[in-house]
Amino acid sequence: MTWRGLALALLQIALGGLGWWLGQAWGALAAVVLASWLWLAWDMWHARKLLLWLRSTELVQAPAMSGVWGELATRMRRWLRLDAQQVQQSEQRLEDIFSALQASPNGLILLDTTGHIEWCNQTAEQQFGLDAERDLLQSIGNLVRDPAFSAYWTRHDFTQPVLMQGRDSTPGRPMRLSVQLYAYGDGRHLLLSRDITTLEQAEAMRRDFVANVSHEIRTPLTVLLGFVETLQTLPLEEDERKRYLALMAQQAARMQNLVQDLLTLSRLEGSPLPARDDWIPLAPLLGQCEDEATALSEMLTRKSGAPHVLVFPEATVLQSDLAGVPAELHSAFSNLISNAIRYTPAGGNITVQWQPHADGSATFSVQDSGRGIDPEHVGRLTERFYRIDRSRSRETGGTGLGLAIVKHVLQRHGAQLHIASVLGQGSTFSATFPAGRVRGHVK
Ligand code: ADP
Repeated sequence: MTWRGLALALLQIALGGLGWWLGQAWGALAAVVLASWLWLAWDMWHARKLLLWLRSTELVQAPAMSGVWGELATRMRRWLRLDAQQVQQSEQRLEDIFSALQASPNGLILLDTTGHIEWCNQTAEQQFGLDAERDLLQSIGNLVRDPAFSAYWTRHDFTQPVLMQGRDSTPGRPMRLSVQLYAYGDGRHLLLSRDITTLEQAEAMRRDFVANVSHEIRTPLTVLLGFVETLQTLPLEEDERKRYLALMAQQAARMQNLVQDLLTLSRLEGSPLPARDDWIPLAPLLGQCEDEATALSEMLTRKSGAPHVLVFPEATVLQSDLAGVPAELHSAFSNLISNAIRYTPAGGNITVQWQPHADGSATFSVQDSGRGIDPEHVGRLTERFYRIDRSRSRETGGTGLGLAIVKHVLQRHGAQLHIASVLGQGSTFSATFPAGRVRGHVK
């Protein structure tokens, strides 16, 4: 600025000198005034140039100017660019935040101070049947008509969540939501909705499971206590005493089976997936199953005197190895075989097969000529404690957990249980193991 002052003074002196030479004192005065006007005009011209540039939308290139005006233009351009960058960054951040909110598995709705929708994510659209554009600035109280939510909204006490049905909830496909409002900003609210359908289903399953286990244990326990009481209070004959003790042993064995199956299930749920390189030779595994099957069949058909006809593959056919956990595979195979024996009348046929396929996979199957299964039950057989014939299951030492264990074990080994059955003719339970878990085929 001092340079500008000096330049103005020099101009005035130079023109003043010229004016003095031309017209003495009046000439000098007129020249100094002219110099000042010239200076002012030059400044105004630059100011106008700067103003025109600032008014234009194209602020990238500052106008070419020298001196203080040039510096002013450059600095302004720098500030403007910085400002534009900051606005862009803020917009980008806002966009990122909205994308994150959009990606949330929970429904989110931003409400203004009067409860009108300012923004909602896709999950909320789907859970409440909203349309983010159509329903913008609509009152949430008018759009969500679930009675539980309406009461919650009217009460205006948002300290606890409210449970309600999702928009597309049907008896066949229920959708349960937990919805809560949180105050933020200047009287605004954030509505957060969580789909708790699976959580509630899991909770119901847990309750059912505990109830089932308690029931299964209570029955033999009641019988046992009854016998203990009888033995304690009544003077019994030796024969009778022995019979009671045998019945007690039977009930205790039933409880033991149940506890064993429960432990197996919990172990299956908690343990890592079976390795793909722990190879088990199939022949001894099925040999052990065959011995157990023969013993079980003899035990169950002792009275009738007609054991089942059991057909197992020849040892020469069983040259395959299976990758997995021996105890788990034994439990799955023996469960299927024992079921076939237990649900097939004495003298019936049970055929166990191992069929290698050209693609390297192989199928294990157990076929029986038993009572068969009504199609309405087939889909539910692997549910825990699901039985068609409860008394038959109990009589033969069943726990109702066998097929649940089988399904779990097979899944862990990459196979799926397949059930084919014709009522009155028999059933075939099979599972195909993937090529990666089978080796040593005779193709
Ligand atoms: P359980 O211990 O009662 O046998 P499972 O889970 O092994 O329990 O089987 C569930 C139900 O499936 C059984 O109670 C029975 O009604 C039916 N089931 C299983 N295997 C057979 C079969 N081979 N033939 C007919 N019904 C079967």
